[in-house]
Amino acid sequence: MNQLPPTADVVVIGGGVIGLTIARSLALRGVRDVLLVERARLGAEASSAAAGMLAPQAEADEADDLFSLCCQSRDMYPTFAAALREETGIDSELDRTGTLYLAFTDRDQTEIEHRYDWQVRAGLNVQKLEPTEARTLEPCISEGIRGALKFPNDIQVENRRLLSALIASNEKLGVRLMTGTTVESIRIHRGGTEGAETSRGFVSTGKIVVSGGAWSSFIRVPDAAFPKIHIEPVRGQMVCFDSTGSPPIARHVIYNPRGYLVPRRDGRVLSGSTTEHAGFDKVVTATGVHSILSNALQISTRISDLPLVGVWAGLRPRAEDSLPVLGPCEEIRGLVFATGHYRNGILLAPITGELIAGAIVDNVVSLDLSAFSPDRFTGVGLNS
Ligand SMILES: Cc1cc2nc3c(=O)[nH]c(=O)nc-3n(C[C@H](O)[C@H](O)[C@H](O)COP(=O)(O)OP(=O)(O)OC[C@H]3O[C@@H](n4cnc5c(N)ncnc54)[C@H](O)[C@@H]3O)c2cc1C
Repeated sequence: MNQLPPTADVVVIGGGVIGLTIARSLALRGVRDVLLVERARLGAEASSAAAGMLAPQAEADEADDLFSLCCQSRDMYPTFAAALREETGIDSELDRTGTLYLAFTDRDQTEIEHRYDWQVRAGLNVQKLEPTEARTLEPCISEGIRGALKFPNDIQVENRRLLSALIASNEKLGVRLMTGTTVESIRIHRGGTEGAETSRGFVSTGKIVVSGGAWSSFIRVPDAAFPKIHIEPVRGQMVCFDSTGSPPIARHVIYNPRGYLVPRRDGRVLSGSTTEHAGFDKVVTATGVHSILSNALQISTRISDLPLVGVWAGLRPRAEDSLPVLGPCEEIRGLVFATGHYRNGILLAPITGELIAGAIVDNVVSLDLSAFSPDRFTGVGLNS
């Protein structure tokens, strides 16, 4: 699409997994005139840098609101991926083998004991494995393992294929995808959204979704009453090995408390990651790669001879309290947020799409989203 339309029913800002999923959900609910505006290329930022793990249980220390949201979204994935495949013919390679979480030190062991105890008490599906049982399941695991948990419901998706499927689905549904265009500011009139000022001109609309990932705070909203949201970038580096030609190195996603290995169907094995406050710089560093490699080698010495075929970095969008920012803004009619998904944007995409489209189309938010409300912030502004 080359020309910016003068009007739209809804403008979605950002073509990452979140914006694409919301645009599709809106179109599926019958909104005819959805315009998605993407600064550069669709799906090229955090969403394609990610590892695609859908693993809330492996990462959680307690059952809070975020955990519950993440589990609900994970459990939507089989239907979500199947529908996308049906619509587009693109298989997102949802893999339901499950996730292993390994302990190598006393501290790791204490952590997995705690995780096992609270999840069993909460009635969640988690299994404790002896080292020999874990190594029988995945012979690539290093001998130094002291214990393991298995999370059968924590799964993975090939996030780059998922993005291709989402783009194709939006195209089929008639969503207008405007790339190479930046939304610079949102125009407000009498407490309501009036439109978006973009690098290609103004588009008039009464409904705008802010889903610009780590760049969300650059969108200016010239209104003093606006909630104070600051989204910061948190860099994550990744390393990719190629195991084609040798037997698959693993079937499960394998974690330890410092990182993970994610085997893909095509023979690639991803390993990550780092958590760095380095501004908007997406470089890969020697220190970052070193820490990922040493952890990957602790999980499995089998990777030591695999060709290293790629390194990259992406910027996770993080709000001050590390929780996503979801839902309509009280102060400004028609302005809706879907940002700050931090470590969980791939995982949270299906539920975000449903909740945001429901809020816009039916004016109903089907879950209690108060923990994630854009109105929870005070202090510095979105654009600061
Ligand atoms: C190394 C790494 C590993 C990860 N692993 C996982 C994982 O295993 N599982 C998981 O669930 N999550 C994971 N994540 C997190 C996940 O990638 C993010 O939470 C998710 O991709 C955020 O999606 P998004 O659409 O909000 O942001 P993005 O994918 O960054 O997309 C935002 C888009 O908005 C566009 N944009 C921004 N501002 C504007 C503007 N003003 N006008 C127009 N367009 C604009 C940008 O160009 C960009 O394309 C990982 C992240 C990283 C970096």
